[in-house]
Order: sequence, then C-alpha cells, then structure tokens
Amino acid sequence: MTLLFMLDAFSFLSCANKIDFWRGPSKPGLAVDMRVPFRSVQAVKVFLESNGIPYSVMIQDLQDLLDEEKETMLLSKKSERSTGTFSFSSYHTIEEIYSWMDDFVAENANLVSKIQIGRSYEGRPIFVLKFSTGGENRPAIWIDTGIHSREWITQATGLWTANKIVESFGKDRSLTAVLNSMDILLEIVTNPDGFAYTHTNNRMWRKTRSINAGSSCVGTDPNRNWDAGFGGPGSSSNPCSETYHGAFPHSESEVKSVVDFILSHGNVKSIISIHSYSQMLMFPYGYKTEPAADHEELDNLAREAVTALEEVYGTKYTFGSTIDTIYQADGTTIDWSYDNGVKYSYTFELRDTGRYGFVLPADQIVPTAEETWVALKKILEHVHSHPY
Ligand SMILES: [Zn+2]
Repeated sequence: MTLLFMLDAFSFLSCANKIDFWRGPSKPGLAVDMRVPFRSVQAVKVFLESNGIPYSVMIQDLQDLLDEEKETMLLSKKSERSTGTFSFSSYHTIEEIYSWMDDFVAENANLVSKIQIGRSYEGRPIFVLKFSTGGENRPAIWIDTGIHSREWITQATGLWTANKIVESFGKDRSLTAVLNSMDILLEIVTNPDGFAYTHTNNRMWRKTRSINAGSSCVGTDPNRNWDAGFGGPGSSSNPCSETYHGAFPHSESEVKSVVDFILSHGNVKSIISIHSYSQMLMFPYGYKTEPAADHEELDNLAREAVTALEEVYGTKYTFGSTIDTIYQADGTTIDWSYDNGVKYSYTFELRDTGRYGFVLPADQIVPTAEETWVALKKILEHVHSHPY
C-alpha cells in the first residue's frame, strides 16, 4: 500500500470519526497511533479490515488509565503534604509547579533566577528559569518542555532536570564547567493555558487555548506556529486540526514570547525542545528535505547522545533530521531557531513508543528524566567545547 493512499485514507477516517492521532501517519513502516471514540470503534475496525490495514489495540479503555493517573496524583499529593516535600516522581498542576518554582529560586538564589518572558493568551505568566554563575549575557543553552500540553512526561522531566542542575553544580565536573562559562535557560511550562486545561477539562489537550476567528474550534498547534516553512503541507490550515498552524507566524503569545526573548538575548547557542512520545532525537529540517548545513555534526552528536541514553536503562531511540525520522513538520521551534543562527537545535521525543503514549505512568518519570539527562549532558558538553 502506498503512503499517499494511507495518508488520504487516514485523513478521511479522522474527519469522519473524530479521531485523535497520537502519532500521525508518517513514514512507511512506522505505526500510526490513534485514539478512537467509543462510538466510532466499530466503523474504524471495519475500515481498517476492509483496507487490509493490520492493527492492534494498545489501550482498551483510556478512561481507566486516566482514572489511575488521577488516583496516583491524589495519593502523592497527600504524602507531599504530610512530609512537606515536593515529589519529582509524580505529575503536578501548573499552580503546584509555579509555587515550587518560587521556593526553588528562593533556596538556590546563588544559581537560579526566574524571568517572566510574557503572558499566555489567557493571561498566565510565562516563566523561564535561568541557571547562571554570573557574567553579562553569557552564551546560553535553552531547553523547553511542555509546548504540547498533554505531553506530561516533558514538564515532569523539566522539573527533575532543574533540580538535577542545582544538585550537580560543583559536583559534576562537566556540568560545572558548562555553568562556569554558559547559562542554561529552562522553560518548563511552555504552554500554560493548554497545560492548565489538561488538568481541568481535557487531559488530551495539545494546542494553545486561543480563540480562532470564524471557527468554534479553539487553539493553535504551537509547534507549527514558528516562522520557518510556516503554512506548508506539514501543518494544517483547519482550526479544528491538532496541527493547525495559526492565523500567521508567531500569532500565539506563547511562541512570540520565546521568539522575542531569544532574539533579544542574541547569544543562545543551543535550543532543545522536549516533546513526547516516540523515543526520537531530531534536528533540522522538518519543513524541507534539503539537509541542514551542519547535518553531519548534528547527526554525529545525536548518535552520541542516544547511545549514552540507551546505556542507562536500555531505552532505544532513533535519530536524524525531523523530515527523515518522523514526517514533514512545518513551522517548528527548532527549524526556526536553526534558521535564526542557533546551530545546535534539537527536539527530543521522550518515552514511550505507544504502550501508554501520553499517559506514561508516574513511576517512569524519574527513569525517563535520568536517561534524558545523560543525553542532554552530551549536547551541553559538545556545545560548550565547540564555541561559535
Ligand atoms: Zn509534541
């Protein structure tokens, strides 16, 4: 079966049955993961079978998993309250994360400060944690998590990583060396409105929460909204789509705030944007097949990073340019940063490969963060030792 047929077939399926693609149709041989509403299950099965498309059921009843997730969060909240500690091995709301941030900055004022870079569509502050040992506008490494709000493992990994940076400073030689000449900028809740909404209304919310003129569908895909190949076929012009690119480049304040911050900073050397899931490490380009000028160096460093990652718990990653590894994606963070002079631009897709998808159990948070940290450090060290 040709890929083109698959794409057409799936887009037909998706419109007719309100299907939410967790992993969109991509390369031949790569599975498509989709969440099918109960009322459409029968129709979708018939469609797949009559077209000879093999399938298996990953999650029988998503609601069961979500109930379990909620239960685990409540238990953890109880134990956090009784011990007065913050648990990095459970998922948290935006209020909990913002309040943790204040404590974290207060307790580690020698190394960490909090910068507000803007406000979300619904008016929530957007914060970046800055890890710095001093100096004026030092070269910096930017890391963001949670631009897609339902990818909860990413914000959780961001929290663990913030703590790890503080713990490692002065003990871990290479990280200390990095921080002695560079800053690390970490945006944990990159899509605050979407993230709040995943806790209050719809756990599967991916986009921003901005109103779209002339449509009853809300939100833009903030990872299709950047001014790099904006509006191409690797995004959608339909406001109801999960990959809607928005009315114009940087229309989303969550994106514009980062753009303005990075451009005015002027000394950001690496941008690492963290997503889930699929276990992939990718670099530009997503909007075109032409290899990036630094393709070979980016590819070698990606190989080194995923090799180190796998050594921790045996988690296997694939890597390569976005368009070669997953699919054409237009208007993404790392294509924008690369086209704006940030050579070391990478995207992670964290665990897993679909067993739990976006509902990764909380007991995988710390192992995921630990293995990701090893890969992140490879990139940090390389950026540090290859000034440009
Ligand atoms: Zn994502």
